[in-house]
Amino acid sequence: MSEFNMSAVRLILSCLFFRGLLALSGNFWHITDLHLDPKYKLTEKPELVCPSSGQRPAANAGKFGDYACDSPWDLINSSVYAMREILPNPDFIIWTGDDTPHVPNEDLGVEAVLQIMRNLTHTIKQVFPKTKVYPALGNHDYHPKSQLPAGPNYIYNQTAEMWQDWLDPKSQATFKKGGYYTEKLLNRTGYRMLVLNTNLYYDQNKLTLDMDDPAGQFSWADGVLKDAATNKEKVYIIGHVPPGFFEKKRSKSWFTPKFNQKYLDLIQKHHSVILGQFFGHHHTDSFRMFYNSEGSPISTMFLCPGVTPWKTTLPGVVNGGNNPGIRICEYDTQTLLVKDVVTYYLNLTRANVAGGRWEKEYRLTESFRVPDASPTSMHQALESIANNHCHLQKYYEINSVSYDLTACDSECRVDHICATREVDFNKYEDCLQKEGAATISGGLLPVLSVAIGLLLAGL
Ligand SMILES: [Zn+2]
Ligand SMILES: [Zn+2]
Repeated sequence: MSEFNMSAVRLILSCLFFRGLLALSGNFWHITDLHLDPKYKLTEKPELVCPSSGQRPAANAGKFGDYACDSPWDLINSSVYAMREILPNPDFIIWTGDDTPHVPNEDLGVEAVLQIMRNLTHTIKQVFPKTKVYPALGNHDYHPKSQLPAGPNYIYNQTAEMWQDWLDPKSQATFKKGGYYTEKLLNRTGYRMLVLNTNLYYDQNKLTLDMDDPAGQFSWADGVLKDAATNKEKVYIIGHVPPGFFEKKRSKSWFTPKFNQKYLDLIQKHHSVILGQFFGHHHTDSFRMFYNSEGSPISTMFLCPGVTPWKTTLPGVVNGGNNPGIRICEYDTQTLLVKDVVTYYLNLTRANVAGGRWEKEYRLTESFRVPDASPTSMHQALESIANNHCHLQKYYEINSVSYDLTACDSECRVDHICATREVDFNKYEDCLQKEGAATISGGLLPVLSVAIGLLLAGL
């Protein structure tokens, strides 16, 4: 190329760069809730396929699992190898916990839990030997389940050792203390990963219920985020149990009210440095909005679907299974803005018949017609889900990773809209009132008035 052509190319490239057209794009995997059931086996008796079904019949059990069961090895392997096939060189991987099966405590034990965690750690490391992994603890990564302590213990110690190739020495030290850590994101100055142990705020955790700040995590995170602002850092937060409500069961929350409020306060105080929050635990695909006191969107929490297809046993949830899901987040490596979220899935019914082919389920910006996954865009997506029935139905289907394809009725709409919009306990209840009333005036009221009219007319 001539000297003139070279400088022309350079000039064009620098113009594009300054106009933001060549913003550097990166991507990472988010996987969560693998829930291995090591005792899954194919047998003639559907009740005996897996302990995690709790004697519910696994009627369609196959190589890759059954909706009544947690993941067999073949499903876990298939998911991790699918990741390598789809995107072999992500910038990093976030792995937000829950490795063990849904079985009574008596059927597990400290060593059984650690063994399963080691197996999954080994598999991920084997398939992605050179990739940085940021793991977080789930409520099922402890024995007894959900009873994660607010101080040093054998399991935090063993886990920190297990993850020593991924965690730097300082991270291992805080992890051993409270199951949390922070590091520069990919060792880059100006970027940070904050990994929380929100199992300490779970209302099932009897050890921390009466504490104000278990393991000093809130004050530690407050300090980390304050320093991040001073040092002009941009931060991603990851964790397992999310604040707010479960969208599949009305008024079902996970945190105690006090911890829910403290988490909200933390995000509202530091939102300017937080570029994204990534959590699991629900096994469903959803997101949570955070607003400031003026009602402007300030942050989004992305809830990644689980690999396990396990139908929840939560009373009141009808047919709460899901197809196995994994996802890629695309982000701007300079600003850490989440640009897009692409979810891949395995149609379990089909996979058991025709083999394990993971497919793209949907791309967020395409499905909800938003320019990116910023808080403003996610607010826009939520409003269109709330007001456009096609978008509501689309959202509802991907919520279960294309497992439950029934219609989302008006009650279902209120549950999903309010859980997504309001993390605050009181505001959530207000939302139920408001959206419920809107449903009556928009849906039932005209029918009622016609009925009354007909009655009055003597018909
Ligand atoms: Zn889980
Ligand atoms: Zn969980």
